[in-house]
Amino acid sequence: MRSSQLLKEFMETKRDRSAWLKGPAFPCEVTAPNVARPWKLVLLGAPGVGKGTQAELLTQQLGACHLSTGDIFRTAKCLSEGERSPAMSVALEYMRRGDLVPDTTVLQMVRERVNCLRCHGGFLLDGFPRTVAQADALQALLREQNLALDAVLNFALPIDEVVARLAGRRTCNACKAVYHVTGLPPRKEGICNQCGGPLVQREDDKPESVRVRMEVYEKSTAPLTDFYCRLGLLVSVSAQGSTTEILGRTMAALQSRDRNGPKRSRMSVQGV
Ligand code: AMP
Repeated sequence: MRSSQLLKEFMETKRDRSAWLKGPAFPCEVTAPNVARPWKLVLLGAPGVGKGTQAELLTQQLGACHLSTGDIFRTAKCLSEGERSPAMSVALEYMRRGDLVPDTTVLQMVRERVNCLRCHGGFLLDGFPRTVAQADALQALLREQNLALDAVLNFALPIDEVVARLAGRRTCNACKAVYHVTGLPPRKEGICNQCGGPLVQREDDKPESVRVRMEVYEKSTAPLTDFYCRLGLLVSVSAQGSTTEILGRTMAALQSRDRNGPKRSRMSVQGV
């Protein structure tokens, strides 16, 4: 069967990320098809820049699986105390405060899910790596697996716009789809278009947590752009405008990278 047909069939079935969200004991029942170009990407950008939304749209366009570390923690939050490991309960405390979970916990979690990096459709890592130590560990893990990143997309946006986006963000409690009260409203207020689940404001999108998360981002995550720039992997995309405009820029940047290959030690810029 042709890969485009396989991809279409896959997109029509419900997306299954069990192995990523719950761990290797819960293998995905719907696995991705072999797509012609399985992209292996990292998405960077401040919280609220729209990475999650772009990841959903890119999943549809590319067939790659959306691997968000934040979603793993939110899935664990829905479990009872008894069902969670002690390490996960400690991790959730960090998350509630808006702090980063310690590298050792996050790295162990990703290492357990290493098979997701071999997904036939490719992958979009979202929210990982968050620190240079995590980025180093990811490079080592990929080398061990004989894999390499194709690009690192950095979504760039001025800080006051970031804060406004976070305040209006709503997430589906059931399927984790992301909306915005003005930028990307659901068809029916408070209800998810995809699964009918209730839309809620994430605890860490409340003003006290947002302030901490922005400070943490500047200190720990912003240096990652230099890290990936030096590896010739960084592709900066302006996150201003509508979700469709941002997606258009992103796809153009990936196509250009596919045609021209990586530009070592130079940052390629789309619409910034
Ligand atoms: P996110 O949905 O990516 O904004 O993640 C939500 C929260 O989960 C973050 O504020 C952190 O507390 C935690 N988290 C997610 N990914 C990581 C990571 N790679 N390293 C440390 N903490 C993380």
